[in-house]
Amino acid sequence: MIPIKPHAYAELPQEFYNLQNWQGFNNPMLVIENTQLKEELGLENIEQQKLLSIFNGSLSIKNLKPLSMAYSGHQFGQYVEQLGDGRGLLLGEIESSKGLVDIHLKGAGKTPYSRFGDGRAVLRSVIREYLCGEAMHALSIPTSRALMIIGSDEMVLREKSETAAMLARTAKTHVRFGNFEYFHYNNKPEYVKVLADFCINNYPAYFSRTKNIYEEFFRSVVKQTAIMIAQWQASGFNHGVMNTDNMSILGETFDYGPYGFMEDYLPAYVCNHSDHQGRYAFKNQPYIGLWNCSALGHALSSLLSEEAQGEILQTYEEIFQSTLAKLFRKKLCLEQDQSEDATLIQGLLDIMESEKLDYTNTFRNLTQALTNEITPELDSDIAKSWIVSFQERQTKEVTPEDKKVISMNQVNPKFILRNYMAQEAIDAAEDSDFSKLETLIAVLTNPFEELEEHQKFANKSPAWAQDLEISCSS
Ligand code: AMP
Ligand code: MG
Repeated sequence: MIPIKPHAYAELPQEFYNLQNWQGFNNPMLVIENTQLKEELGLENIEQQKLLSIFNGSLSIKNLKPLSMAYSGHQFGQYVEQLGDGRGLLLGEIESSKGLVDIHLKGAGKTPYSRFGDGRAVLRSVIREYLCGEAMHALSIPTSRALMIIGSDEMVLREKSETAAMLARTAKTHVRFGNFEYFHYNNKPEYVKVLADFCINNYPAYFSRTKNIYEEFFRSVVKQTAIMIAQWQASGFNHGVMNTDNMSILGETFDYGPYGFMEDYLPAYVCNHSDHQGRYAFKNQPYIGLWNCSALGHALSSLLSEEAQGEILQTYEEIFQSTLAKLFRKKLCLEQDQSEDATLIQGLLDIMESEKLDYTNTFRNLTQALTNEITPELDSDIAKSWIVSFQERQTKEVTPEDKKVISMNQVNPKFILRNYMAQEAIDAAEDSDFSKLETLIAVLTNPFEELEEHQKFANKSPAWAQDLEISCSS
């Protein structure tokens, strides 16, 4: 028995989606399977080949109602009327020990929402999505995760000709801010309500049914978004395409495109080479998160007064700031709340910026600063004086030093996904060698371990990778 069942979304009125089948590949090939996730979903008894056949559409599950979703959204600040799953498909859902989980296929062929696209995804981009989902998950950042990549011998044209591939991914939801915008801007307030009710009923862990349920709905989305973005900021993650159609209403990171983990600390970092204005620069993410929430609030205006929207949007800043402060305190092992802490944290960020220090490694090596005057990164005069303040501040902490080291190493990763690492795995995979991909997964799923045999992945990017350009094309 295959436990994938029709998605509850398929019960919504017909305007919400298009029911359809999808196009598998003629010569599908397994690129990678996520055995860990498979187990978490209780799918471990389904053989790899069988799962591949299901996702490729060659083995059908009875009564399934695969569908592509209708949505719109704001892209780079402009409203775009017709988006939708142009190459994606909600296959169904699985009841797992963690609750209901969506199963979605990306790159499954054309849909009514494909516009000028071919409905396909390329191997390069699905590998990037797979890797990042696992990396984020291991850092405890809410994210969609991939279950399998299916490769093919089909060629599609991007900036150059590339092989097509399909990604089977899981997420708690595929409802985006843009699903609400679609009905709001199409003058269908009754469907905005239907969709809000759907979310409130289907995701009870997120949405309270007390008081004004729509206010509580919006409040929760704003909260989850603020928390998610604080987590991005603390880990140096730059999403790259924070359009409202890429924002999950449950605050899960998803629709990975030209993302990047910042290497040298640079608030103005822009991972997406198509983003010429830097709208989605690292330092703008908190503000864009709020901007996106206000776009959602506007789309909910048939359910929420302007006052209520305003009041709820005002909660964003506090939730964001307090979550980020908490995360930074953990990174520096500051358990007691002291008035000088914010200055101490900012002082470190300023040094990282002016001295172009690697964000991840500077934090990771801070454990050495507990006792030494310098760490590999913090060796300038100004950095040394910062270390003295840090050590002084640490005297107010009661935790024994060995415990401090352990707890800092549990929040400051040794390994992050640097773009060059993904690129090397992609280059090999394009030559049908998937071993580098498997190795990377082993590293990224254990980012806090020392992993002696994988030291090189903790190094800064090599010179050849400094100019790696990652754009929207995928
Ligand atoms: P994304 O940049 O992946 O978030 O996609 C933005 C919009 O473009 C979504 O509506 C996608 O479904 C659509 N899209 C992206 N790539 C393709 C493609 N190759 N074929 C059809 N639609 C696409
Ligand atoms: Mg998208």
